[in-house]
Amino acid sequence: MTDNACFHRNAENVASHRCEVVEHRWVNDRYKYIRLSAQSDLAGVTKPGQFYQLKCPVTDEQQPFLLRPMSVYGVGPEPGTIEFLYNVTGVGTAAMASLNVGDHMDIVGPLGNTFVLEPQYKRILVLARGVGLATMAPLLQYAAAAGIGITAIMSAREPKDLMREEFLRGAPAQVHCVYDSDGTSSVEAVEALVRRLLDQEHYDVVYTCGSHRLLMLLQRVLADYPQTRGEVAMEQRMACGMGVCLSCVRMFDIEGDKQFLRVCREGPVFSIRDVVGEVEFG
Ligand SMILES: Cc1cc2nc3c(=O)[nH]c(=O)nc-3n(C[C@H](O)[C@H](O)[C@H](O)COP(=O)(O)OP(=O)(O)OC[C@H]3O[C@@H](n4cnc5c(N)ncnc54)[C@H](O)[C@@H]3O)c2cc1C
Repeated sequence: MTDNACFHRNAENVASHRCEVVEHRWVNDRYKYIRLSAQSDLAGVTKPGQFYQLKCPVTDEQQPFLLRPMSVYGVGPEPGTIEFLYNVTGVGTAAMASLNVGDHMDIVGPLGNTFVLEPQYKRILVLARGVGLATMAPLLQYAAAAGIGITAIMSAREPKDLMREEFLRGAPAQVHCVYDSDGTSSVEAVEALVRRLLDQEHYDVVYTCGSHRLLMLLQRVLADYPQTRGEVAMEQRMACGMGVCLSCVRMFDIEGDKQFLRVCREGPVFSIRDVVGEVEFG
C-alpha cells in the first residue's frame, strides 16, 4: 500500500487468473468469506472499488454460465492473495459456496475504476449496508494507513446481520450502527444523523455502496454540502463485465448532460451527484 493517493483505472493489468482456494468459511447465515491464491501479483494491481469476474464452478445442481461480478474485499499480505465476501443468493454464488480448500477457480480482473482517496483528506464518511460492506472494506484499510479519520454509518436488518468486525478489520473508526429492527435505519433517522455529522465537522468525501435508498438520501443531503464530495460504487446486474454487452448501462446527469454509462466500464464508482435515480420515459 504505497500509493495512498487518488487511485487510477488500470486496464493494462486485466488478466485471467487461475486461483486456488486457501480459506473458505461462513461469516453468518448468508455471507461467505473466500480467500484465493494466484501466481501473479494481484495485491499490487488491485485497488478499492474494483471488481473481478468470477467463474463459479459447475456442479450437479447449478450450471452458472455467465461470470459473476464480485468486489475485492481484500488483498495480501502475500502478493497473490485476494479475498471476497459474498452473499449466497442464486445459482452462481450457491455453486461457489460449494468450493473446498484446494479447489480452483478462475477469476478475471481487476475490472472497473476505483474510489478516489486523496492523501490530503482529513476525514471521510462511509455509509454501508449489505454487500456494500465488502466493496468499501478495502477503502477503510487504505484510509487508516494514510492516517485519514473515518466515520462509518453501518446499516443492517438487525444487530446479528451487521458484520462490524468484517467491515472495519481493525481500522480505527467512529461507528454509528443503525437497524431496521428498531427503526434507526429509516430514511428520516439516517438523514438526520448524516446532517448532524456533516454539521459537526468537515468531511472531504462521503462514500456509499449497497443501498439505493442510502444513495438517494446522500444525493439529497450533499446538495446542501457543496464542499463534500460523494462517491458510490454501483451494483448493477451485468453479464460480460467488460463494456461489450451493455446490460449494465445506467443514466447519469453530468452537469446537465444526460448520458448512459456502463457500470462495468465507466464505473462501478460514480459521483453521487451524477446518478439519476428514476428514469422517466415518454
Ligand atoms: C461491481 C459489482 C460488485 C459486486 N460485489 C459484490 C460483493 O462484493 N459481494 C456480493 O455478495 N455481491 C456482490 N455483487 C453482486 C453479485 O454480483 C451478485 O449477487 C451475483 O452475481 C449473484 O449471482 P448468482 O448467480 O448467485 O445469482 P443469480 O440471480 O442466479 O444470477 C445473477 C447473475 O446472472 C446474470 N444475469 C441475470 N440476469 C441478467 C440480466 N438481465 N442482464 C445481465 N446479466 C444477468 C449476471 O451474471 C448476474 O450476476 C456485486 C455486483 C457488482 C455489479
